[in-house]
Amino acid sequence: MPISAMTAVVTGAGSRRGIGRATAHALAAAGWNVAVLDLDEAGAKETADEVAAAHGVAALGAACDVTDDASVDTALATVTEALPPVGAVVNNAGITSPVPFLEVSDAEWERVFAVNVRGAYHVTRRLAPGMAERGFGRIVFLSSVSAERGGGVFGGVAYSAAKAAQLGFARALARELGPSGVTVNSVAPGLIDTDITGGALEGERKAALLAGIPVGRNGRVEDVADLITYLCREETGYVTGATYDVNGGSHIH
Ligand code: NAD
Repeated sequence: MPISAMTAVVTGAGSRRGIGRATAHALAAAGWNVAVLDLDEAGAKETADEVAAAHGVAALGAACDVTDDASVDTALATVTEALPPVGAVVNNAGITSPVPFLEVSDAEWERVFAVNVRGAYHVTRRLAPGMAERGFGRIVFLSSVSAERGGGVFGGVAYSAAKAAQLGFARALARELGPSGVTVNSVAPGLIDTDITGGALEGERKAALLAGIPVGRNGRVEDVADLITYLCREETGYVTGATYDVNGGSHIH
């Protein structure tokens, strides 16, 4: 089935300056129809409208709290009814938290894991069977350099642990779904210019971080979107279980 006859689901693609919205655009430019799921319903619909207008594909935006199984069921029922079969899912919805481990509360720990790990589970658990049945699928997780280097950019232990959980999730799933034509990969961005830190990384702190980036600039959402779109191509069927750094060389290992 050509990509133009399939849908890519991108979670957390409502935010205007986020990686998800740029990814929705890049996937649509490559021919994918796009479903945008986000807590922010207006943002999700705005992304979908933008994408449909710019790239002439079918797109829909729906309200969805990925931490809530009933909300995921409702959103995916709309997607299944309105759009072609799902061939790709980008687990992009995520939150970060800078709280030091010695100050973290149980609720904060759960909150970070709920979105980054349980959310990705809910969405992937529901979409993977159809992909396996049709013999084609592309699943991408938005992990982070934080998982690899042990936090230290913005996120604390909870974020780093949740993003590392995604790496294990992706690797084991890649092994299980490889025989069914479904690839599963992770991208690990460094510092990308979005609103995820709520403006907390500015001034001197940002300058110090930039000094540690060999390519000499912040990452852009398009840098990440481009890599995700590459991993979703039909031709990229021999790459699975991999983690792709997109960090300007800030962490080379
Ligand atoms: P962002 O804050 O711009 O976007 C995140 C989106 O997720 C928002 O639209 C938000 O509404 C949505 N979201 C949050 N909780 C949700 C939930 N429960 N259900 C559905 N949607 C929900 O963030 P971003 O910087 O674009 O980050 C996207 C992903 O990339 C995240 O997983 C993040 O951890 C990861 N990442 C970002 C950076 C960075 O520097 N920006 C670095 C590494 C990894």
